[in-house]
Amino acid sequence: MKRTFAAIAVAAATLTGASTSAWAQNYPTRPITMIVPFAAGGPTDVVARIVGESMSKTLGQQIVIENVAGAGGTTGITRGAQAQPDGYTIMMGHMGTHGAAPALYPKLRYDPTKDFAPIGMAAGTPILIVARKDYPAKDLKEFIARLKTEQDKANEAHAGVGSVSFTTCTMFNVMNGIKPTRVPYTGTGPVINDMIGGKVDYACDQIVNLVTQIQGGNIRAYAIATPARSPALPDVPTTKEAGLPDYQVSAWNAVFAPKNTPPAVVAKLNEALVKALDDPGTKKRLLDLGGVLPEGKERTSAWLGEYVAQEVARWTPILKAGGVVAP
Ligand code: ASP
Repeated sequence: MKRTFAAIAVAAATLTGASTSAWAQNYPTRPITMIVPFAAGGPTDVVARIVGESMSKTLGQQIVIENVAGAGGTTGITRGAQAQPDGYTIMMGHMGTHGAAPALYPKLRYDPTKDFAPIGMAAGTPILIVARKDYPAKDLKEFIARLKTEQDKANEAHAGVGSVSFTTCTMFNVMNGIKPTRVPYTGTGPVINDMIGGKVDYACDQIVNLVTQIQGGNIRAYAIATPARSPALPDVPTTKEAGLPDYQVSAWNAVFAPKNTPPAVVAKLNEALVKALDDPGTKKRLLDLGGVLPEGKERTSAWLGEYVAQEVARWTPILKAGGVVAP
């Protein structure tokens, strides 16, 4: 019995080694799941669906989006990190799940720098401070002054501890001495829906979720936290123009696979992602939503790996100083 088992194990190991490259050559032969760690309709979901559609065409197999929300995106990313490293489960991470989360979750079950095979950056996403359209403040200065007097009467909504919205509004609140009631959601898609409905006062969110609603007058934007205005929202002032020059922050969305995914599979996925970014239709959709597209070496898997390490190192001291920790 034992001998038989050992013989099978050895045979299987030999086979695996010999056939990995052939197997990877044929990849993909069935649909690929892309985990989005937030609710449908938000920025991570939108970026995933836009690039996923084009990648599906290149790969000849459908990329199916699975929304696995919870714990600021860390629930879905934990599941993705633990999936089989065969290229059939990949995920759309972001600055929160792969930058801020380690500082906020002492018991995080993945290490952004060790447990993934980075595929590539999908889009940079500047952060805006947005509020319900009838919020009684005409500009950023008035808005901050009012929030200071209202304190916990104002409510700020975010996508859970560790999310981009949570992290970037923590910065905004701490910087201005504001202590709102902070309301967690499963993603900023539902946050903006409730903001349109008047249930939420304000949020800090990624541009790709906001352009259409700002243009339609459904929510108001007080400022964009980048050095220059966005071509997608030329009327929205920068934080510098609006009187809060030190509030500078941008987020990003990027594709990851679990660690130990074969290099040939990683290369195929990266190629499909880069092709998506060069596809005129896909590119236009991302740019119209205010996305900032990676160029040159920023499109490589290796660069993303280095960038994640830098982001973890950047966010850890900022968030630890803020004293926020999730269970
Ligand atoms: N923008 C979100 C965040 O705050 C999440 C989402 O994509 O829905 O992290």
